[in-house]
Amino acid sequence: MADTPFIPFTRPSFDEATIDAVGEVLRSGWVTSGPKLAEFEAALSDYFGGRPVRCFANGTATMKIALQVAGIGEGDEVITTPISWVATSNVILGVGAKPVFVDIDPVTRNLDLSKVAAAISHKTRAIMPVYLAGLPVDMDKLYDLAQQHQLRVIEDAAQAFGSSWKGQKIGSIGDLVSFSFQANKNLSTVEGGCLVFNNLDEAKLAEKLRLQGVTRQGMDGMDVDVLGGKDNLTDVNAVIGLHQLKQLPQFQAKRTELARHYFASLRQEIQSAGLESLHLELPPENFTDSNWHMFQVVLPLNQLQVDRAQVMTELKGLGIGTGLHYPAITGFSLYKKMGYQVSDTPIAERIGRSILTLPLFPGLNQSDVERICKSLVAILKKHAK
Ligand SMILES: *Cc1c(COP(=O)(O)O)cnc(C)c1O
Repeated sequence: MADTPFIPFTRPSFDEATIDAVGEVLRSGWVTSGPKLAEFEAALSDYFGGRPVRCFANGTATMKIALQVAGIGEGDEVITTPISWVATSNVILGVGAKPVFVDIDPVTRNLDLSKVAAAISHKTRAIMPVYLAGLPVDMDKLYDLAQQHQLRVIEDAAQAFGSSWKGQKIGSIGDLVSFSFQANKNLSTVEGGCLVFNNLDEAKLAEKLRLQGVTRQGMDGMDVDVLGGKDNLTDVNAVIGLHQLKQLPQFQAKRTELARHYFASLRQEIQSAGLESLHLELPPENFTDSNWHMFQVVLPLNQLQVDRAQVMTELKGLGIGTGLHYPAITGFSLYKKMGYQVSDTPIAERIGRSILTLPLFPGLNQSDVERICKSLVAILKKHAK
């Protein structure tokens, strides 16, 4: 096995044209926010059906600015999911508001919308759903809830670039929709993010917030009327995004093909190993809405003699990298100190303890998927109770 190459859980795809374009920006004399950023924002706005779009230094800054644009701060509550990258709830705390965690649906692993209404108080201002692995929540139900209770929606669509709902792209519909272009995401600018707005007033406010609150008039006019930060995206990143956007359809086709192959291969391996009674939970088989940002299984830990770490270690020994997305946020020390408990959201607790991300990225091929499935099922068989 020593000569089989190691498969990481993900790897970005940057082609030579992208690398050349970065060189051109570096040689141009203008490297920070400028013409390439404007071009990228215009291309994104086209992609999202003409809605205003602005870019930011990363997905975390994008979500923080979304909260600021929605006027959310001290004393406000925001309903969200405990199964996300901790950025989601960190930004809520960062603006002085309180995250209220609602349990997840065990099948979609997303916020369980049927449990949201019970968590709404007179302080609730917004719902912040996360589209884990790129699978959106039921958008009709989400916006019915928001409308009924007069709440803003800040979609943490960090993982959902290219996903859709009933044929419409995520981002082309909805309230404030936030994406990340971090290195692991389906479309990457190395680091970066973008926010889709309802109108130009919101976009103009976000432009100020991303650069110290500054506005300029004429040749020498400058004013500051809000407190902004330093969250702008550079032209170096933007030009990478322009090239990634062109390649997105081919990336998407490859991810979908590999996800299909995962289902077929896993089922075949489970059957030939005689492990049908093992409750390995596969992701929802949704080939119309998901961008297949990740392929995640939930391990049947109560049917195994080993824990998740041991499964990860043995896969690594066979040259297969895995990812952990994510343990429940409510179990982190910082959050426990604030009074949150993982036991408040038992489904999230179980999934967060048992979920495992298998490799999926455009540079992977079908024989890699077969090797991964064979290895995983062999490990499960070895340790089944
Ligand atoms: C990546 C990610 C973010 C944050 O994006 P950064 O660009 O890394 O700041 C937020 N939420 C989720 C669900 C993510 O996957």
